[in-house]
Amino acid sequence: MTIEQIITRVKENNPEADIELLELAFQYADHAHEGQFRRSGEPYIEHSLHTAFILAEIKADLPTIMAGLLHDVPEDTEYDLEDVKKNFGEEIATLVEGITKLSKIKYRGIERYAESLRKMFLFMASDIRVALIKFADRLHNLRTLDSLPPEKQVRIAQESIEIYAQLAGLLGVWRLKWQIEDLCFKYLHPEEFNKLQYKYEVEQRAEQNQFIQKTKEKLTNGLIEANIKGEVSGRFKHLYSIWLKMQRKDRRFDEIQDVFALRVVVDDIADCYRALGVIHSIWRPKINRFKDYIGVPKPNGYRSIHTTVFGIDGKATEFQIRTKEMNVEANYGIAAHIYYKTGHAEKQPRWIKEIINLQKDFENNTKDFIKQVKFEIFRDRIFVFTPQGDVYDLPSGSTPVDFAFAVHTDIGSHCSSAIVNDRISPLDTSLKSGDHVEILTDKNRKGPSRDWLKFVKTSRARNKIKSYVNQSRFEQLRKFIPGMK
Ligand code: MN
Repeated sequence: MTIEQIITRVKENNPEADIELLELAFQYADHAHEGQFRRSGEPYIEHSLHTAFILAEIKADLPTIMAGLLHDVPEDTEYDLEDVKKNFGEEIATLVEGITKLSKIKYRGIERYAESLRKMFLFMASDIRVALIKFADRLHNLRTLDSLPPEKQVRIAQESIEIYAQLAGLLGVWRLKWQIEDLCFKYLHPEEFNKLQYKYEVEQRAEQNQFIQKTKEKLTNGLIEANIKGEVSGRFKHLYSIWLKMQRKDRRFDEIQDVFALRVVVDDIADCYRALGVIHSIWRPKINRFKDYIGVPKPNGYRSIHTTVFGIDGKATEFQIRTKEMNVEANYGIAAHIYYKTGHAEKQPRWIKEIINLQKDFENNTKDFIKQVKFEIFRDRIFVFTPQGDVYDLPSGSTPVDFAFAVHTDIGSHCSSAIVNDRISPLDTSLKSGDHVEILTDKNRKGPSRDWLKFVKTSRARNKIKSYVNQSRFEQLRKFIPGMK
């Protein structure tokens, strides 16, 4: 890897980028790491260059790429953070500092590990670019994992797949998530990895390529006839996702059919739906395999239309339809938002704010904090509508009480029943995405019921209910009367 390769990439993404600064960062890092080698035998600067290149590939901004070059300087060389700051300024020093702090937290049992996770969330919340650098750093470390002892390989792979891949997914940086996952998969389940790799990348690839080619031609003709400008391409799913699917559905791999998807990229949203019409008129759609993430985007902002049809020879074939902008977002996630800063300045995902709030609630209890983050952030979320058509996103399994507290504390505290999709429903009903929910309140109600704690899912509702219950006089009495429940 050379600095020229990075420069070429940066210029492609941003012709106005200050290349001179980038070169300075490289020279500084190169000088600082001089004489250092990695376990693999390569000069240390290779790692810095690869990290920066991965960042350039996901279209990260210039300070992030520079920080990628400099990320191991304070930790591993005689130049400290102050020196980096003096030479490159506050912004880059802060990014490097975030990475340095993160790298100091080593895996020492589950307790401290949870603590490190918590810190990672905090750094991410303060500047999301720290997370991007960490992903790139980790990805290159995974690529060179062979040079470490087997025990360490497994430990790092485990940590990466559980934490970093998940976080990359949350941030929508799918390109990195997939690469991290497949590399980890190789070390965690080598036998299965090799079998799948042989099956899909050696045995079946030629046949599948032919199938994709035929499908592409047929659809391209259909689009031309309908006067839609679009590009059709075929994509293989990555091995880890095929393996996950096998686990989930308990199937052997000869039975797993849909190992690739065809992607249709068009100019605008109207064309997405028109292209969908073309696909469904050529091939019969499979029931329940249609998802409109343009109408209702995923919580991380992902937008696309997915449909699976009985394609050529009746073979199940999946299509993903999206605009060019959505395509960039889908591949680069949050990095794309930074890249397109002008258009989407404040498009920080809502869950980052939630992490900051959660952090306050669980100041002294890291274990519960992680549990709650996993529950509220990592799990699927649902979208629920108010009678006015406003959307609230909640963790799946949320109830009308969670919804009521999300809308307003007063509504939560005084809710008496709920109307879900025009039907009176109990307050502990499990809501589904797309539900329309109206909360009926009772002004005479003094406050939330302790019983609700048995079914609420969000920490917001739980905390509000708890603090009311704790304050109530009843609670005070309880302390003085033994045995009272
Ligand atoms: Mn590093």
